[in-house]
Amino acid sequence: MRKGNLFIISGPSGIGKDTVLQILLKEEKNLKLSISSITRPMRTGEVEGEKYHFISRETFEQMLQGDAFLEHNVYCGNYYGTPKQPVFDWLEAGFDVILEIDVNGAMKIMESYPECVSVFMLPPSLQVLKHRLLKRGTEDEQTIKARLTQAGKEIQMASRYDYVMVNDVLEDAVADLRAIIRANTLLKKNNLDLIDEVKKDAESFDW
Ligand code: ADP
Ligand code: 5GP
Repeated sequence: MRKGNLFIISGPSGIGKDTVLQILLKEEKNLKLSISSITRPMRTGEVEGEKYHFISRETFEQMLQGDAFLEHNVYCGNYYGTPKQPVFDWLEAGFDVILEIDVNGAMKIMESYPECVSVFMLPPSLQVLKHRLLKRGTEDEQTIKARLTQAGKEIQMASRYDYVMVNDVLEDAVADLRAIIRANTLLKKNNLDLIDEVKKDAESFDW
């Protein structure tokens, strides 16, 4: 059975990673989003288990000791981690899995899983990024400042990723991410079983 592919998407806070992913996940039934465990407070509108598991620092640290994470990082003072088991189970079952993680986590995954496909989402301009973060209205002024400072650092890492896309018009960004995932599915190295099967059939076919 074909194993799934591992994808990473990163980009500054407020650029629209989640918005793009939620649209794509509804359409692409073979794609699963890894649900991170995090210690930051829940935002208005967020639902436990939808995008994140909201856990205490104590629970996070226990999980860390139990080697439960594929990677983890501290982002703006809170822990964020990718639980290992669901990712392995989905890949084994043939699903593609996408990790929406920050650049530090992404570098760790790229090192441990060099076969992963990484995507960096850029804003059309820094002004637009600031506007989106403010418009979302989920953070106080101090947190927004910290996230914008972090955004500046994260953007410096864009060239370390396999693909770079700009989230300007939402529909185009969804189409771009879909194209990246689709193109990867069609790579020869991901279709060796299929090629073997067709080659074998062609050898014995009554032409
Ligand atoms: P992230 O997951 O990267 O932190 P979000 O998905 O929460 O970002 O998006 C931040 C804000 O930007 C939200 O209010 C969202 O509706 C808005 N947004 C996302 N993509 C676009 C887009 N292409 N055009 C305009 N607004 C967008
Ligand atoms: P937010 O608090 O805005 O949801 O996320 C803040 C940052 O943490 C974003 O860059 C997001 O991609 C990243 N993030 C979310 N989950 C994880 C995770 O499990 N690991 C790492 N390293 N970063 C994560």
